[in-house]
Amino acid sequence: MTYTSSLAEALAPDILDRFQRYVRVETTSDPSTGVTPSTPGQFDLCRLLVGELAEIGLEDASMDEHGFVFATLPGGGPVVGLLAHVDTTPEVPGAGVEPIVHRAYDGGAIALPREGTMLDPGAMPVLASKVGHDIVTASGDTLLGADDKAGIAEIMAAVAHLAAHPELPRPTLRIGFTPDEEIGEGANVFDIERFGARCAYTLDGSQPGELQDESFSAIAVTVTFHGVDVHPGSADGILVNAAKLAGRFLAALPSDLSPETTADRAGYVHPYDVEAATARARVKLIARDFDDELLDQHVALLRRLAEEAVASEPRARLEFDVKRQYSNMRRHLEAFPEVVERAAQAIRGEGLDVVRVPIRGGTDGSILSARGLPTPNLFTGGHEYHSKREWASVQDMASAAATVVRLAEAWAVD
Ligand SMILES: [Zn+2]
Repeated sequence: MTYTSSLAEALAPDILDRFQRYVRVETTSDPSTGVTPSTPGQFDLCRLLVGELAEIGLEDASMDEHGFVFATLPGGGPVVGLLAHVDTTPEVPGAGVEPIVHRAYDGGAIALPREGTMLDPGAMPVLASKVGHDIVTASGDTLLGADDKAGIAEIMAAVAHLAAHPELPRPTLRIGFTPDEEIGEGANVFDIERFGARCAYTLDGSQPGELQDESFSAIAVTVTFHGVDVHPGSADGILVNAAKLAGRFLAALPSDLSPETTADRAGYVHPYDVEAATARARVKLIARDFDDELLDQHVALLRRLAEEAVASEPRARLEFDVKRQYSNMRRHLEAFPEVVERAAQAIRGEGLDVVRVPIRGGTDGSILSARGLPTPNLFTGGHEYHSKREWASVQDMASAAATVVRLAEAWAVD
């Protein structure tokens, strides 16, 4: 018995059925297209979801021209939102996903049929803790897409259950399935007013019990070095090599302020893309911290190091571009303590301990909370996101859906 409740056990078959259907639809997002949704495959899943919401009985289910699916399950109390994103990361292939269900996991290594992909419990302690669970994986050559189709399946199963049991207490629930979370775009286009909820929850986390009301604050920095290009045969005293200036800058980045050397509440700066030639070199970086002041200090440090890299070369020119991406949601959630409290109540109601780990990343909720819709994040039961080893536990997905049903009860009275 690995289910947290009989409710979770009752919801599991519907969740698994939906999940396997959703992950087969290719919804990889693409940061280069400049439109919303960034890829047409996201429309396919959204259309499927509109049809299924209508089948459940949510008569107003519809999709707008940007691929946002909104629907309402009427009830008493305030209007509370449930959100999940339809896209998957562009970093890992997401076409042709073939889910495999490994029933009653025995604790050993799971070998996937393609590309020799292996889930090794020795290197994956969370997987090792799921003996007896039904584990869903992809087939080795794609991601699974539990991020965030587990969240979608859980919301759908919970809403279907509530729709079929009108006697169960619930507020008015607004369902939102959104495009382009993975490229940080969807939440900027999200129509908060039309959604019309007082608060919302993303289902986009991992381990059972997770309730996240803190995310990184995030800034993207692009540093461009302009040199002086000339034929190297006659370059004496003329040539200024931008690639070397960029190299100097990269070498000066402090090693103790890197993602590979920091954890928990420590922030970092991270160069992730370098394009360097003699005339021009461009370094793209991200800066992250839970503390906005420290984040600004990291960016100031980057600026100083870039200036130092060109200081000895007056003919070089520097461009330093800063773009705020999202901010720690905590600051925006503090004014609405009941939003986190009622989620904690629902998690405990499902027999789980509340796990409050800050997200070393952002969610749609980071952007939405800053834009005025308080939106903490809940667990989904998926793991090893953005990899071909991605997996999800059916039992944990069922706990998440059951938690949503309990969350509805927690909000039934204002
Ligand atoms: Zn996600």
